[in-house]
Amino acid sequence: MNLFKKHLSNAIKKRIKELRVVMYSLGAKYNCPVCGSRINRFQPLPEFYINNIKRHGYRYKFEQAETLNYHSYSCPLCGASDRDRLYALYIQDYLDRVGHDMAIRIIDFAPSAPLSLFIRNLITASGQNISYITADMNMEGVDFKVDVADMRIYDDDQFDFFICSHVLEHVADDRKALRELHRILKPQGSGILMVPVNLGVAEIDEEPSITDESERWRRFGQNDHVRLYSKDGFIKRVMDSGFLLHQFGKEHFGENTFEQNGITDQSVLYVVEK
Ligand SMILES: [Zn+2]
Repeated sequence: MNLFKKHLSNAIKKRIKELRVVMYSLGAKYNCPVCGSRINRFQPLPEFYINNIKRHGYRYKFEQAETLNYHSYSCPLCGASDRDRLYALYIQDYLDRVGHDMAIRIIDFAPSAPLSLFIRNLITASGQNISYITADMNMEGVDFKVDVADMRIYDDDQFDFFICSHVLEHVADDRKALRELHRILKPQGSGILMVPVNLGVAEIDEEPSITDESERWRRFGQNDHVRLYSKDGFIKRVMDSGFLLHQFGKEHFGENTFEQNGITDQSVLYVVEK
């Protein structure tokens, strides 16, 4: 009986998933590069954020975030955020560009589940000799539990590419984390390095000693952030740690590509190079 119920439940889940695919594909004009689906709309940023930002009196508007599509935030089928979609576009191109006879080592910090699956599928499909590992201090299911500000488990010059997205705003000493990221990267290696950049802020606002969640929401826009990055402040901090920094916006990817993949015009991908 239990087995029968399980089969029935799986069959229902499968049918619901198929119906969702049909529902979101009707008149589809958008694309999710992470799961490869054609969809008619993305889903907005969860109410949780909107409500907390209002409740705690955060001073800035969502429009002031550099890379955030708050009204077309996530893919309804795989959950990928707009920044995941931006990274997927870049990573696909990166893997096409790197030599197919080269062994490549990639490390992904605080991995996003849909993007991680995308990368694994891409590696399998390409047949390239690529090792992909995931790391985080708290997240379950990652390959390595590691503090990005103290990565002594890795020798110098270990990785060809990293993804470190929305990690540094949680780290008390982000300069130390940047030095560590630089150290573990091979010379000529590169990485996606993203933080929530707020275009309405002139200088970095930071105070790791604040632990009150309400105050963190008010000042930094999230209960577990310890700073709010200005664009110039972020760029300076990254370059001070020894990285070269590239910014790729709609001029690089194409205005149509941004539109079709639900990425806002002012979005910028930061890619560092050692
Ligand atoms: Zn998707």
